[in-house]
Amino acid sequence: MTFASFGLAPALLKAVEAKGYQQPTPIQSAAIPEILNKHDVMAGAQTGTGKTAAFALPILHRLHETNSDQPLVKALVLAPTRELAQQVSQSFSFYGQHTHHKVVMAYGGVSINNQLSALEQGVDILVATPGRLLDLLSRKAVDLSALEFLVLDEADRMLDMGFIDDIKRILKSVPSTRQTLLFSATFDDAIFKLSQGLLQDPKLIEV
Ligand code: AMP
Repeated sequence: MTFASFGLAPALLKAVEAKGYQQPTPIQSAAIPEILNKHDVMAGAQTGTGKTAAFALPILHRLHETNSDQPLVKALVLAPTRELAQQVSQSFSFYGQHTHHKVVMAYGGVSINNQLSALEQGVDILVATPGRLLDLLSRKAVDLSALEFLVLDEADRMLDMGFIDDIKRILKSVPSTRQTLLFSATFDDAIFKLSQGLLQDPKLIEV
């Protein structure tokens, strides 16, 4: 299988080529077509499997296709830690370097002011930790009403870190029509319980 066989936009294939990837990893082969086909996805994938590109590439492709110039958040990625938020954000920026989507990061432990001014300038893809996102929502600094994609990355770690109530509060601000993608290294009862209120008829992917 090749990245081109997914039908990804040439602008994205150019970035994949610049990374030197020879072929998709198993999680990418399984998840990218399902996400392009607008399915919700629940995927079991450890760090190091290529899971970030497995959601970033199809999301960027779909945003590139619709090409909306509305300055509202279209994709929201929730991540447990600042480090993961930074990695995910860098991946979106790299893969999307020829597509001109605005990526903004928001995490706690640092001043909120820079994040507020970044958001004011418009954002397509927001990568955030749950607590800081709630803070931004309570200040009405983020509008999630046009959200098309919600990603929970390392969902098991978010639950372990006690973010369940924060996630539930965030869900009240996102439209029910969005597509939801949940990535987790492990699946246990807590993850399945979370997925029930979150995902609609998800495709299960385990690699
Ligand atoms: P991740 O699991 O998303 O944290 O990615 C782990 C590492 O794998 C990152 O350094 C990626 O750049 C790299 N990677 C992602 N997809 C591929 C691929 N198809 N071929 C080779 N390396 C990849």
